[in-house]
Amino acid sequence: MKIGIIGLGLIGGSLGLDLRSIGHTVLGVSQKESTCQTAKNIGAVTHATTDLKLVAQTDLIFICTPIHYIFPTLQQLSEYLQPTTIVTDVGSVKTPIVQQCTTLWSNFVGGHPMAGTAEQGINAAQNNLFVNRPYVITPTLDTPPHSVQILADLVSSIGAEVYTQYSPEVHDQAVAWISHLPVMISASLIDACMSEPNTQILEAAQKLASSGFASTSRVGGGNPELGVMMARYNQEAILRSLQQYRQTLDHLTHLIKTENWSSLQETLETTQQARPHFID
Ligand code: NAP
Repeated sequence: MKIGIIGLGLIGGSLGLDLRSIGHTVLGVSQKESTCQTAKNIGAVTHATTDLKLVAQTDLIFICTPIHYIFPTLQQLSEYLQPTTIVTDVGSVKTPIVQQCTTLWSNFVGGHPMAGTAEQGINAAQNNLFVNRPYVITPTLDTPPHSVQILADLVSSIGAEVYTQYSPEVHDQAVAWISHLPVMISASLIDACMSEPNTQILEAAQKLASSGFASTSRVGGGNPELGVMMARYNQEAILRSLQQYRQTLDHLTHLIKTENWSSLQETLETTQQARPHFID
């Protein structure tokens, strides 16, 4: 297949590496000339340039820019494309993107590879990033089933576990629970610790923090722009999760205040049993 990738960063570059390794022609477009050159050097693309026209004759295009550029990129791109070209994106939030992009391009299929690292940019691109990782494709009633199938087969061929049964709304609420809420909880954990007024205690906490704090604070100590992007684009779902989380915290606070140790034990037993349903 002749595949276009716009936005040669971690996700775009990694897709390019894998798709080329199984024989596809990959035409890349990025903002910076230096990024295009690096993408060529590492073998993530067959050709790359800063000019969107390069991808005009492709069969399928992945838009891998930051979320706020996805729709504007499609707007610019739509001038050059043939109606048969399938356009997909990799944005971590789906409802607003799928709504806007489907209106503009009827052959648009929303997607979200649930893989990544803490790094960004073309130098972070790596082979096999998507192997055994979920790749969610979120068709609507109007999405051409044939295009969904082509995208599903393609990402499956680079090792991803494909899910096509979730609507953009279900996807967004699910990722609010397991990805976006954890960022906010983890950030508020760090924030709460930093609010300790006694400097000796704060210093001791900072010196003594170990593996438990490392796990629970990791996603809250990540890239602030990504966190803001999640909240901005998935506002409704994340607020719903935060609201529910606040009630759960209030419940736990109440159990501890009232020394209801047996109920606390039951709650913690329930969460212990529930965790493997989310993660092995
Ligand atoms: P990234 O490493 O920062 O890559 C994005 C690249 O897009 C940048 O390197 C930039 O390249 C290029 N770019 C920016 N604006 C552009 C424009 N207007 N036109 C063309 N290229 C442009 O980010 P990423 O982590 O790959 O994320 C990209 C997308 O994947 C986002 O929509 C994100 O929601 C989604 N996603 C990310 C992850 C993750 O864990 N990181 C996981 C799943 C999905 P230049 O160097 O040329 O400026």
